[in-house]
Amino acid sequence: MRRSASPVRLVLAVALTLGAMFLFAACASGGGANSSPACPPGVGRGMWDLELPWSDDGAPADTAASRLLEDPDFGATPQAAQDLEAGVVDGRLVATLRTVAEEHRFCVVAFKEGHSFEPGVPDGPRIPEGYGEAGGLPNTHYFGRAADVYWVDGKLVEDNATDPAVLDVGRALAEIPARRRPDQIIGPPAWASSLGYGRERGWVLERDQLELHDDHLHLGYMDERGTRNAR
Ligand SMILES: [Zn+2]
Repeated sequence: MRRSASPVRLVLAVALTLGAMFLFAACASGGGANSSPACPPGVGRGMWDLELPWSDDGAPADTAASRLLEDPDFGATPQAAQDLEAGVVDGRLVATLRTVAEEHRFCVVAFKEGHSFEPGVPDGPRIPEGYGEAGGLPNTHYFGRAADVYWVDGKLVEDNATDPAVLDVGRALAEIPARRRPDQIIGPPAWASSLGYGRERGWVLERDQLELHDDHLHLGYMDERGTRNAR
């Protein structure tokens, strides 16, 4: 007659099973606390950006930019987060992003740092010649007045230009009062044509610009003050 499993082996088996379950739970949570949930894994900020009580470096705690950074529906690359922390990002843009984050999760890849029109060439105050008809115009990214959004509600803008969530971001923008709404809103051609907003709402509809933005939404303010939107 065989004896049942020894108590020691039983305890070991239970411990191993619990350990495996714990490991599975940790993996299933998508990287847990270290990810910026509005950005895909590997794009958002990492563990080093967690606000830990002992990592307080005396930075101002309660600004609109810091509140945006703390919003779980807002995701940012490390460079974009740094721009916010450094106060480089225009207050109107911060307010607009907070408004959009009330309804959607999205990921900003670049404000100023890390943005480039030509790979490997650092941005300057003007859009380089050759970037469509806009070449030579002021570069709103350089002045912290523009954001590039590549993901909405976990979906890549590039493949989901007419997805209800991505379209709804456009509608949320259109509802912002004219004097606070971006006046340089550019997105994929299908996104712009489905929404049907015009220049008076802040949309840029030049064909070459739409084609240059077939993979992201660009939200910008053309001037340092005010907007060019019709009232
Ligand atoms: Zn842009």
